[in-house]
Amino acid sequence: MIIDLRSDTVTRPTKAMLEAMFAAEVGDDVFQDDPTVNALEAKSAALFGYESALYCPSGTMTNQIAIKVHTTPGDEVICDALSHIYLYEGGGMMSNSLVSATLLTGDYGRINAEQVRDSIKADDIHAPISRLVSLENTVNKGGGCYYDLAEIQQIKGVCEAHGLSLHLDGARLFNALVETGERPDQYGQVFDSISICLSKGLGAPVGSLLLGTKDFIKKARRVRKRFGGGWRQAGYLAAAGIYALDHHVDRLKEDHQRAKTIEGIVRRVPEVIDVLPVYTNIVIFQLAEGLLATDYVQKLNEKGIRCAPFGKDKVRMVTHLDFNDDHLTELEKRLV
Ligand SMILES: *Cc1c(COP(=O)(O)O)cnc(C)c1O
Repeated sequence: MIIDLRSDTVTRPTKAMLEAMFAAEVGDDVFQDDPTVNALEAKSAALFGYESALYCPSGTMTNQIAIKVHTTPGDEVICDALSHIYLYEGGGMMSNSLVSATLLTGDYGRINAEQVRDSIKADDIHAPISRLVSLENTVNKGGGCYYDLAEIQQIKGVCEAHGLSLHLDGARLFNALVETGERPDQYGQVFDSISICLSKGLGAPVGSLLLGTKDFIKKARRVRKRFGGGWRQAGYLAAAGIYALDHHVDRLKEDHQRAKTIEGIVRRVPEVIDVLPVYTNIVIFQLAEGLLATDYVQKLNEKGIRCAPFGKDKVRMVTHLDFNDDHLTELEKRLV
């Protein structure tokens, strides 16, 4: 038995999800006549209280499109130094949108309104134009922690006062929502755009959604085409997304419980000296002095446990739909 905790993207579609995919009615999405893609876009927009949505191949693409639409070359984006948009998108925002980034050091990746206010540049020809604030929820590199909605509302106030747009990289937003009990439309009210991944905890094989106003999504659709993301009978994949939104949201709580159990297990592992607080489905732990993450990950790999090095001396494990209680029992046996 291989225990794969590298990411929540490693899941395979369930039988019921595959059936929904096989049964999908499709068209050509570049002509906007794929009924299943249109249904997924309408459903997700309504869920978050937006006018419109755009279904894309990846969360990197939805983030990159959003940054492109919100900014013009020479602008700056304000975000946490741990942000996926900065660290893990191939330098995309700098090369696709020709923008610079002001990197703030937040609380495990969560920035606050005061930090944002203090980092907005004055209207001065020496400075880039502060144009966009981007938040991440949950924070991947912050161990899956999530924002307090009241803080986000404060940040929104600062953005409004200074004419900045506010984007959310919500790759794992549903993981936050099932913990806080907040509603998707409460998030729709504060962000100018949101990116949601269907291929993470929700268990779809492919796909992310970009949400926003009708005008924003119209521009986003053009950028998606330019980035090479115009796709054709994407309805087969969109059907998996619809299935995921209908059936795989509430169960995220199970992933969170198992991650909590893993936290307790890794605390008993001699090589581990610290574990980041576990809030959702991500467990990040620190290795004892002198140990390298790449070596330790290789050692676990030999025991049939797959996980990801996360910096020099940190390791990440992520729970998901294909990691059940049997895997958990087996993980404990192999680890300690
Ligand atoms: C996974 C992820 C993305 C998007 O990743 P893709 O693999 O391109 O779909 C964006 N932001 C965060 C925080 C992520 O974890």
